[in-house]
Amino acid sequence: MIRRIAPFLALAMALGALAGCSAPPAAPPPTADSASAANPVVVPAPAPPLVPTPSPTPAFDMGARSIDDPDSIWVVVDKQRPLDPQDYSPADLVDVPVAHTWDPLLRREAADAVVRMFDAAREEAGLELASNSAYRSYDTQVGVYNGDVSDFGQEHADANTARPGNSEHQTGLAVDIGAASGDCSLDVCFAATDEGQWLAENAWRFGFLLRYPADKVAVTGFAFEPWHYRYVGEDLTAELHATGVTTLEEFFGLAHAPDYP
Ligand code: ZN
Repeated sequence: MIRRIAPFLALAMALGALAGCSAPPAAPPPTADSASAANPVVVPAPAPPLVPTPSPTPAFDMGARSIDDPDSIWVVVDKQRPLDPQDYSPADLVDVPVAHTWDPLLRREAADAVVRMFDAAREEAGLELASNSAYRSYDTQVGVYNGDVSDFGQEHADANTARPGNSEHQTGLAVDIGAASGDCSLDVCFAATDEGQWLAENAWRFGFLLRYPADKVAVTGFAFEPWHYRYVGEDLTAELHATGVTTLEEFFGLAHAPDYP
């Protein structure tokens, strides 16, 4: 070990001699990476990351769309990233002509994709899907969030329901999907149903992302929601599928959002 670091020490001493040509520099503030004569073992031996982080393929243009503009289908909304403006509402909402329990509105592109996805579930697997909630306005979310706070307390509400201005449903790009039968609607047991499993395997083909995976609560800030799908477009979901990245925060290198600021 000493043999290996000796050349580095020699180089450091040589550089130190050059620096001595002028007034001695003030001692730098200590950092975790500071090398000093008293602590020469800082010679870096880069350790591989414990968990390799998949990264986009070189051909993928991560800047193709904005992640800040609420009109962008890539907009990232979470507890750390409220919509701007907070009372944003999309200009191109349309009725989604699918089975539903609550009249669904989505932005046109997302609505067309939902119809294609529900048709495919029926044709490929004989499964009937339904929308349980889609676009929710700022004012609607005020009611949903306040209702959850009064029913379950703020801690439970914040783990399960976004505050107004921080909800993906306000983008017009998110939809809560269930079985048309109503089995396990808005319940974690939906993940084990045929409909939940088909969605988990196939939604990416239609541009939808399961936004709150079970193993990423610390990243997304929300409990596992096997019913909540977010439209981001097929180019991005194909990339996520290929690289194995499961959250927008990780893919775009954003801060994790376990809590509100
Ligand atoms: Zn939802």
